[in-house]
Amino acid sequence: MAETRMLKFVKVHQDYPAKRDAGGRKQDFAEISNAYALEKAEEQSGRCSQCGVPYCSVHCPLHNHIPDWLRLTAEGRLREAYELSNATSTMPEICGRICPQDRLCEGNCVIEFSGHGAVTIGSVEKFITDTAWENGWVEPLTPMGDRGQSIGIIGAGPAGLTVADLMRARGYEVHVYDRHDRAGGLLTYGIPGFKLEKPVVMRRVQRLIDGGVIFHQSFEVGRDATLEELRGRHDAILIATGVYKARQIKAPGVGAPGVVEALDYLTASNRKGFGDSVPAFEDGSLDAAGKNVVVVGGGDTAMDCVRTAVRQGAKSVKCLYRRDRANMPGSQREVKNAEEEGVEFVWLTAPEAFDGTDQVSGVRATKMRLGAPDASGRRAPEPDPGSEFRIEADLVVKALGFDPEELPKLFGASELSVTRWGTVRVDHKTMQTSLDGVFAAGDIVRGASLVVWAVRDGRDVSERMHTYLKVKLSKKESTQATPESVAA
Ligand SMILES: Cc1cc2nc3c(=O)[nH]c(=O)nc-3n(C[C@H](O)[C@H](O)[C@H](O)COP(=O)(O)OP(=O)(O)OC[C@H]3O[C@@H](n4cnc5c(N)ncnc54)[C@H](O)[C@@H]3O)c2cc1C
Ligand code: SF4
Repeated sequence: MAETRMLKFVKVHQDYPAKRDAGGRKQDFAEISNAYALEKAEEQSGRCSQCGVPYCSVHCPLHNHIPDWLRLTAEGRLREAYELSNATSTMPEICGRICPQDRLCEGNCVIEFSGHGAVTIGSVEKFITDTAWENGWVEPLTPMGDRGQSIGIIGAGPAGLTVADLMRARGYEVHVYDRHDRAGGLLTYGIPGFKLEKPVVMRRVQRLIDGGVIFHQSFEVGRDATLEELRGRHDAILIATGVYKARQIKAPGVGAPGVVEALDYLTASNRKGFGDSVPAFEDGSLDAAGKNVVVVGGGDTAMDCVRTAVRQGAKSVKCLYRRDRANMPGSQREVKNAEEEGVEFVWLTAPEAFDGTDQVSGVRATKMRLGAPDASGRRAPEPDPGSEFRIEADLVVKALGFDPEELPKLFGASELSVTRWGTVRVDHKTMQTSLDGVFAAGDIVRGASLVVWAVRDGRDVSERMHTYLKVKLSKKESTQATPESVAA
């Protein structure tokens, strides 16, 4: 049953029906979808009641001026709508695509509260900014003069890119160091292309390059330079390295070939999307085609893995999660999407062991039940004795979340203070770390979070870095002043 639905889904995507315009000319997909998107954007924007209590804006981490740009869109004033949405965000078309709107803006729309379904704010935001790119309304990045100071950004994810954008615009020399060969962080190699098309990310990166931001790709801080060396090169540093230490399952057989990390699996798929050669995909190790796939985890990464497996033509896809549907961390909308695509959710279930020595062949699992609330207030799952069962599996993807890497050790900077969770400790007023002139933002401060929060942090930390650099410059100028120059 699941297999039939899955194959149908893949086929529908492959054979998008050719439509014809009034003159009988075959319209391409872009034309059909543009016309449809405009109609939908205007229709949805017109549904906004302009209620005067913009809970949507309050619950958007960027406090976007949502009702105002919805009104402008409904009036057909798309350029003004774009300019307003661009005023508070460095990547509105990206947030519009991948924010979990059901937990943020749309989940707090008063029309949703009244039971009539939220205005689809994210889709409108995506549409107006995509339209701006198509029409050349997106301004090039033009620095305001040359301030004679430089900053180094470690990490080219949404936090780092936001700071690069805002600080370059202020006239700083901006260098971005990233260990990957392409910029974008998880926008590029984590989030799948069916949710976030990669050209959308790359055109943002290109705009920064064209504006004079200098990218040092395949440059790993800790391997290619220490933090101290970078501090010597720049007037201020931003650490925006994200969180990449995958949480592990402790169970017999977990090391069997075919039991893989979520990020390895997703990165391989994204690299194939770029047309790269990926040996571990080509030899089948990271390709779900024709396989019984089991994904372990209940967060957004797990949802991305199950939906990627469907698109790769998996025979069956099951998602094992130790709590129930109501207590999963992932977006309910993503679960619904995955279910519609034929993914089977096996709730209240945890793996106990993995079968197979040369190749994984199955997962031995046990049912769980929810006990008393733990320290976090969530009911802790505990095994239900005697409920063990087995699931066939040729590929198991571990998607249990991420913790920070040990940055002080990795960067050769023992004085860099971290919290007990390993996130970088910052003074929340200055956003500065324990090291003078070293700031931090994004997931490496918050722990695994969201793109929109990384953008918000990037916006906030740019303000703090700018203030710091102005003071630094004026101190430098006053110490350089000679008695003659002061007199002059
Ligand atoms: C699979 C997956 C799917 C997700 N889906 C969504 C979603 O749909 N919506 C959403 O809002 N959020 C999603 N998230 C979360 C979101 O991607 C992150 O919250 C966001 O990318 C964090 O931004 P960041 O800039 O802090 O870090 P990142 O995006 O992780 O970027 C950090 C960058 O630092 C670089 N780096 C790390 N260490 C070094 C070093 N030593 N030297 C040089 N460079 C280094 C990395 O290569 C990377 O490019 C998802 C996360 C994952 C894992
Ligand atoms: S940035 Fe995200 S939360 Fe804010 S309006 Fe856009 S989609 Fe909604």
